[in-house]
Amino acid sequence: MKKIALVSCNMIRSSNLCPGDSKCFVALGRKEGEFKRYADNGARIVGIVDCGGCEGNKNRIICSLALLKMQLSALNEEVDAVHLGTCIMKFCKRKDDLIEAVKEKAGVEVIEGTHPYAPPSIFGQA
Ligand code: SF4
Repeated sequence: MKKIALVSCNMIRSSNLCPGDSKCFVALGRKEGEFKRYADNGARIVGIVDCGGCEGNKNRIICSLALLKMQLSALNEEVDAVHLGTCIMKFCKRKDDLIEAVKEKAGVEVIEGTHPYAPPSIFGQA
């Protein structure tokens, strides 16, 4: 059973555009999207942190992940893999910076994406 942490888009989350992180939880339960890889051995979410915001320094996300590690460590838990949310992968103009920063510092596998339920484009095929 893998223990995973999610990184979400601060703007989408704080605007309540993805209420309850439900798409990620449902996709993990169904083993869909980037969670398909856990179909055999399972996985559970041990933490969700946000990116730090559009104006934030990319180090904010590294600090958040480090604090998550400390908190989990006190509970005898750890993170085996970090998933960067579909919200980031689909909609963030700074995603390359965030991906690079997390991959450089995470020390565990970093997976680009979570659920497969991004909304279709409104005005045609993207
Ligand atoms: S930097 Fe990207 S992931 Fe973070 S709030 Fe802005 S759009 Fe969202």
